[in-house]
Amino acid sequence: MRDFIYTAKPARVRFGQGTLAELAGEIERLSLKHVVILSTVGQRSMAADIAERLGSVCAGTFSGAVMHTPVTVTEEAMAVVAGMKADGLISVGGGSTIGLGKAIALRTDLPQIVVPTTYAGSEMTAILGETQDGAKVTKSSPRILPEVVLYDVELTMGLSAAVSVTSGFNAIAHAVEALYAQEANPIVRTLALDGIRALTGSLPALVAKTDDVHARTEALYGAWLCGTCLGAVGMALHHKLCHVLGGTFDLPHAETHCAVLPHALAYNAPFAPEAILDLKRTLGNPDPARHLFDLAGELGAPRALRDLGMPYEGIDEAVSRALANPYWNPRPLEARALRLTIERAWAGDSPAS
Ligand code: NAD
Repeated sequence: MRDFIYTAKPARVRFGQGTLAELAGEIERLSLKHVVILSTVGQRSMAADIAERLGSVCAGTFSGAVMHTPVTVTEEAMAVVAGMKADGLISVGGGSTIGLGKAIALRTDLPQIVVPTTYAGSEMTAILGETQDGAKVTKSSPRILPEVVLYDVELTMGLSAAVSVTSGFNAIAHAVEALYAQEANPIVRTLALDGIRALTGSLPALVAKTDDVHARTEALYGAWLCGTCLGAVGMALHHKLCHVLGGTFDLPHAETHCAVLPHALAYNAPFAPEAILDLKRTLGNPDPARHLFDLAGELGAPRALRDLGMPYEGIDEAVSRALANPYWNPRPLEARALRLTIERAWAGDSPAS
């Protein structure tokens, strides 16, 4: 085993079924008196139910969270939070709501309790991607990391098959890239492989039966592990491409991850032999990139960037943007090979083997 550094992020995690019943206790543990509950408009009633359960310790709700964390929404929410004299944030939802809580915490240092209801994994990271004047900027700070994460399987039972699959692939992508990260280490490897096992094993069962409690539990557990990987090590070409494609062509976040992951993995495979060996064993397939491509197809996830709205003429721009300020990557970035990779993802072709 090589020498390594592992920096654990200090969040408290509660995992289980019905753990929402512990929310009041967690609020008390942090000595909070007036919390505000954040959600999207689609989860407004979930937020209202939780507010009612909490009673007087809840100062109110803000249900305006949207994808990509626009600064305008953050400013609107901060005015509401200040007006309520809130001393803590409860984010109930997926990466969009969690992003809003992180953006407010970055500016105010208010403590956050996060109740994740998708599998995207944002709750385990000190990373925030926020949008201003059409550009998405990534920020990192200990203030962004939630203090407490409360995973309640029951709150995920109503998540659609489509969002389960796309957010699940987003999580798998964190774990795949963690395996060949520059700071890869045995702890993260263990988390990544178990996260990939849990999610790839449970997503087919969830698509067949969205209220399969065992599959829901496995998927949420996998999401936690994969999110921890994202928070622990740097990401590479796949995340860079998704960032570039999402920002440049306004593509949906999780769906873009589904379409790109098999191709980014195929690009890196010759330069990441240990990661590929691990993935072969975990996925039970000699071609991990092909396995993920086929799985996305079986689960009805998008596999072609053109179906997500990316124009063919955008491929060259995507290549040059990916080459500018690249993230560290196991394989050097070569314009021609990168173009072929993006072209295949655009068309929805199988990954190059
Ligand atoms: P999302 O939060 O946008 O949720 C998708 C939709 O599903 C929303 O309408 C939401 O209200 C709804 N929903 C969520 N949970 C539900 C449930 N249990 N029942 C019914 N409806 C539910 O999607 P996402 O994929 O979780 O998050 C995407 C966002 O997260 C992107 O903006 C992305 O940039 C960000 N993200 C950030 C990080 C990070 O570490 N900073 C990591 C991953 C994703």
